Amino acid sequence: MIRVGVNGYGVIGKRVAYAISKQDDMQLVGIAKRNPDYKAKLAIKKGFNVYSSGDPKEFENSGVGLSGTLQELLGKVDIIVDATPEGIGKENKALYEKAGIKAIWQGGEGHSISNLSFNAYANYDSAIGARYARVVSCNTTGLLRTLFPLQKEFGISSVNAVLVRRGADPSETKKGPINALEVDKHIPSHHGSDVNTVIPGLSINTVAIKAPTTLMHLHAVTVELKKSATKDEIIELYGRYRRIALVSLKDGVNSTAQVMDIARELGRGDGDMYEIAVWKEMKAEGNKLQYFQAVHQESDVVPENVDAIRAMCNVEKDSQKSIDKTDKSLDIGV
Ligand code: NAD
Repeated sequence: MIRVGVNGYGVIGKRVAYAISKQDDMQLVGIAKRNPDYKAKLAIKKGFNVYSSGDPKEFENSGVGLSGTLQELLGKVDIIVDATPEGIGKENKALYEKAGIKAIWQGGEGHSISNLSFNAYANYDSAIGARYARVVSCNTTGLLRTLFPLQKEFGISSVNAVLVRRGADPSETKKGPINALEVDKHIPSHHGSDVNTVIPGLSINTVAIKAPTTLMHLHAVTVELKKSATKDEIIELYGRYRRIALVSLKDGVNSTAQVMDIARELGRGDGDMYEIAVWKEMKAEGNKLQYFQAVHQESDVVPENVDAIRAMCNVEKDSQKSIDKTDKSLDIGV
């Protein structure tokens, strides 16, 4: 059993903790929270041990029974998943180093934090036995999920993608916009170069826009393939990857609202959509492919964290076996 801790129990941390608790080769030793808020209380209700990365007295005053401090949690685990806000993970690195444990960070941190950026389909093998890794962001994970199969099967000459990003997560009230479309100040946006931290040398250009929605990101992707492909071949290819869900206008799925309705209907914890939804209504002409995909920002990175743990802790050297195990435990594959 791999002993795992989760530091930061927000949007990503609570989902990763739940996923770890579903693995038969991992033990969730506990989660660390900064504040004794409702999420800390719900974690205890779920049977998770809560540790404090803030002031233990505040937890005591709020009636949240602690199992110890973050430092104590670090002393009990083989690996910690850091899911603290962007930039804070970097500050925590010294703590993990001191504790002599392995660590995984999220996409808010830069590639240099671990010099190993992870996606299960694209580079599982490079994480085997690694001490540190970073699971790339939700958008980058979404791009890698659908680009990796194309690269493997047909080869890619170039990628151009427009990313319409959600303005905030559903539980956030301080972000926006709430009535505008906001252009990313960087052209290209950082997402393309982030893809290159996992697939070096891939020619990819991305631009990004923030939209007043909380449900999902939507990507419009144009790929120049090295070998020509038909639409049916692409659909058949994507059908072989469980972490891609093919959806169709013909079934009444014409927006992220219906994709997330499907996720809720599936009855998963938090109504999550771990799969990247790709519309069957794509265009493949010669070497050129154009498609739309939707990314559930809150959950697509969750199975990636589980696989990264398995690779780094050397318990499964076969990427497909780890992916199969993770997918089965989380009921992935629509
Ligand atoms: P969040 O704000 O929802 O949760 C962060 C958690 O860390 C909270 O429990 C907070 O209390 C805790 N925390 C620990 N130390 C803290 C400190 N010093 N200051 C403030 N809070 C502290 O964040 P999130 O959205 O889960 O993001 C976590 C990481 O995952 C980031 O790197 C982010 O970029 C990445 N990520 C986020 C999303 C998303 O859509 N939310 C998707 C993919 C990756």
